[in-house]
Amino acid sequence: MSSPPPAGVRRDQPLAPLTKVRTGGAADWFAAATDQESLVESLRWADEEDLAVGVIGSGSNLLVADDGFHGLAIKLEGDLAAFERDHDLVLAGGAARLPSVAAKAAGWGLSGLEFGVNIPGTVGGSVRMNANAYGGQLARVLEWVEVATSSGSERRGPDELDFAYRSSNLGEGEVVSRACFRLRPKDPAEIRATLAAMRSRRREDQPSGIKTFGSTFKNPEDERAEGRSAGQLLDAAGCRGLAHGGARFSPKHANFVENFDEATTADVLELMAAGRRRVHERTGVELEPEVQVLGEVRWPGGWEL
Ligand SMILES: Cc1cc2nc3c(=O)[nH]c(=O)nc-3n(C[C@H](O)[C@H](O)[C@H](O)COP(=O)(O)OP(=O)(O)OC[C@H]3O[C@@H](n4cnc5c(N)ncnc54)[C@H](O)[C@@H]3O)c2cc1C
Repeated sequence: MSSPPPAGVRRDQPLAPLTKVRTGGAADWFAAATDQESLVESLRWADEEDLAVGVIGSGSNLLVADDGFHGLAIKLEGDLAAFERDHDLVLAGGAARLPSVAAKAAGWGLSGLEFGVNIPGTVGGSVRMNANAYGGQLARVLEWVEVATSSGSERRGPDELDFAYRSSNLGEGEVVSRACFRLRPKDPAEIRATLAAMRSRRREDQPSGIKTFGSTFKNPEDERAEGRSAGQLLDAAGCRGLAHGGARFSPKHANFVENFDEATTADVLELMAAGRRRVHERTGVELEPEVQVLGEVRWPGGWEL
């Protein structure tokens, strides 16, 4: 290393506890950024040292390589996890939890973020992933985001983010540090009723209290899927409950991989390959992962179809 790391950047941080599925190794370097300045400083240092940068939100759609991440992993905290109201606007740090923001907005009588109540991610992770649920659209209420890079930070509007199904154009080293949502005034009781309905629908459809990263594969657009979701295709291919090592497709939702017994990331990848192959053999559809991988993983031999 040619220059010492900024204050707060430390070595060898285990990442499994920072993900919902709880697998994978450690990051060589780790920064907990509590404000915009320290975030940009860490990014600048990583750039000077030619280190790869990875951002960890709530780790709710993240799979870390067993060999870890040989770069700088950044987690936003402190001021960057706060949020506040300004009339019809909600200003949120990149690390604010989307369900908390959605619930608070309901109390403020502001509508538009209801869809986020069941998405267990941060605001930044949700912008990066273009998260949505029940027909809600992040892009519809997003006013702007502040993106931090090694050269500073800048505001971008939703039309500059190339939102598509579960994707945006945010690349490595581009960190959403803040976001602004423009919401609509509505009766808080009505919004709360919507949230309650969404929560109960979710309890019926999806397992709770398990170690998972949510949807494993994207829903395919391939016409051979005949409109079926990834979960329906995996289910029809006999994947519900299928296990490899400590990982299995959830008995309740076939597109959710569950770490039910000290799984490794290698277990998860083997299972994903098995599910993908089964669906391909039955239908010709090639499922693509929704889950984001941090670090270098070796996809199992069966992955390529
Ligand atoms: C039980 C369960 C249910 C889920 N339901 C839904 C759902 O209904 N709809 C849906 O869309 N998703 C759903 N997900 C997936 C997940 O919650 C979303 O993708 C969420 O937006 C990810 O946010 P995160 O903070 O956890 O990001 P992480 O999982 O930590 O990271 C995901 C990606 O975003 C990047 N990232 C994280 N923070 C930032 C940041 N500040 N700036 C730039 N990039 C960043 C990471 O580097 C990574 O590439 C579900 C997951 C689980 C476990």
